[in-house]
Amino acid sequence: MKKHNFSAGPSILSRIALENSAKAILDLNGIGLSLLEISHRSKEFQAILDETVALFNELLNIPEGYKVIFLGGGASLQFCMIPYNFLNKKAAYLETGVWAQKAIKEAKFFGEVNVVASSADKNFCYIPSGYSIPADADYFHITTNNTIYGSEIHEDMNCPVPLIADMSSDILSRPVDVSKYALIYGGAQKNLGPAGVTFVIIREDMLGKVERKIPTMLSYATHLKEPSLYNTPPVFAIYTCLETLRWIKSLGGVKAVETMNKKKANLLYDTIDNSKMFEGTVAKEDRSLMNICFVMKEQYKDKEDAFMELSKTKGMIGIKGHRSVGGFRASTYNALPIESVQVLVDAIHEFESIHA
Ligand SMILES: *Cc1c(COP(=O)(O)O)cnc(C)c1O
Repeated sequence: MKKHNFSAGPSILSRIALENSAKAILDLNGIGLSLLEISHRSKEFQAILDETVALFNELLNIPEGYKVIFLGGGASLQFCMIPYNFLNKKAAYLETGVWAQKAIKEAKFFGEVNVVASSADKNFCYIPSGYSIPADADYFHITTNNTIYGSEIHEDMNCPVPLIADMSSDILSRPVDVSKYALIYGGAQKNLGPAGVTFVIIREDMLGKVERKIPTMLSYATHLKEPSLYNTPPVFAIYTCLETLRWIKSLGGVKAVETMNKKKANLLYDTIDNSKMFEGTVAKEDRSLMNICFVMKEQYKDKEDAFMELSKTKGMIGIKGHRSVGGFRASTYNALPIESVQVLVDAIHEFESIHA
């Protein structure tokens, strides 16, 4: 049966990226060797790295003065590297979910953390607004898309101090004004590639911000000096990212992808909003285009298991909500085709025709 992969992460990748990555494992560009058995310092891998960086720059329209690097350790290691490299006295954080909380936890090892606002009071079902960012903060950290709760910051904000964003789950889902950010990072495994590689877009003037000694591998300076090649980078994961970037370009770039993402999200949100049995969990203006969370209305709560069963018979994977939210979460990342969203929408209608 055809599978419809709504997993939150690791998640669906485009078929073409998977096929080309599989080919590269057996024979990279006809050189008679696998991508996995060549030196990361070979001209073949250097060409892969160069093209990956070039496509990142092109697709996100990254201005001069920034570098794109690929590291290990996941987004979670960035939670630590960011304060290690940039926090002198005080940093500001926006608390919009568990990932933000984990970033806050690491920052506290290095200095004072000012949580400027939080949506913890309502289980992170909205994005706080109307807060002020202290002018003496070393930086302000946000999570643009809250993968677990399905809330998203849709605009690139003006920020009086360096703005740092965890874009693990919405990178390349929409155009971003990179010039508003000092650093953007994320694990690749949500919307870009396989697990094992972390992308970092860093403004070069962010180096040298703190006096403390930083261990070599945890210093951004190390990884900018020998871009992504201080040690052996995750070569296969980078290659699959490259194939994803090529695919995004072939679709017409990030703007075209955003149009498709809006179409998919609107189709599902409209269905939920007009549903007798289901309802969304996030404030409408803050709803994510990437992770769509919904539950059964109070009087139908006992039907959630039955809907999970129906979804399985339709080939749907990964729509169970995160345990901290419950209900359902459909992740509609770039590579998820609208046909899969339609299968979910049809299942909702079918279910209501029986139970509502
Ligand atoms: C998944 C996720 C993370 C954690 O990423 P790892 O690469 O597993 O460390 C961090 N932030 C957000 C927003 C995520 O969705």
